[in-house]
Amino acid sequence: VKKRRICVLGSRSVGKSALVVQYVEGHFIEPYFPTIESIVFKNVTWNGENYEFEIIDTAGQDEYSMLSSRHAIGIHGFILVYSVASRPSFDMIRAVHDKILNYHGVSQVPCVIVGQKSDLPEKKLAPRQVTPQEGQTLAKELHAAWIETSASSNINVSKVFDLLLQEVEQQ
Ligand code: GDP
Ligand code: MG
Repeated sequence: VKKRRICVLGSRSVGKSALVVQYVEGHFIEPYFPTIESIVFKNVTWNGENYEFEIIDTAGQDEYSMLSSRHAIGIHGFILVYSVASRPSFDMIRAVHDKILNYHGVSQVPCVIVGQKSDLPEKKLAPRQVTPQEGQTLAKELHAAWIETSASSNINVSKVFDLLLQEVEQQ
């Protein structure tokens, strides 16, 4: 089994925990313990190989506490989450990405940028504040993969982790 340690980062309440729980447990959770960091494991087969994900679901409150040194060491890849209905959460992605690069002292790191809560504009529950084009443009600039998801409607959730493995394994 190949072990891959993954860190999920992003502004508060963009749905990081909901995304991780939907992926690992297959159901949608309402907010729980928003300030508590949790670590979960999942085994997957990808390209005929067995992998064990260790997924760190972080709970930082701002860009300063979001990425601590324990998130920077021994991490194979990052999932950077924003909400398509929150411009500030999107603006945060670049700052967090910069911080990761600084910590690692590299110019590139395996990364998937995730536009979460795609169901909100779809169902007209909240206006879209970030277009898919903006997400794609940022991802291209940061040499990252990009996808939009909905943890509540279970759209593209497992694709996030497939994309990340692709990014990690092509390094
Ligand atoms: P975190 O702070 O980033 O871990 O965010 P949570 O996973 O705790 O979710 C924050 C809030 O957004 C909760 O009320 C969730 O129920 C809600 N939420 C999470 N994911 C989605 C989603 O895909 N769609 C919608 N509509 N709400 C979501
Ligand atoms: Mg959370």
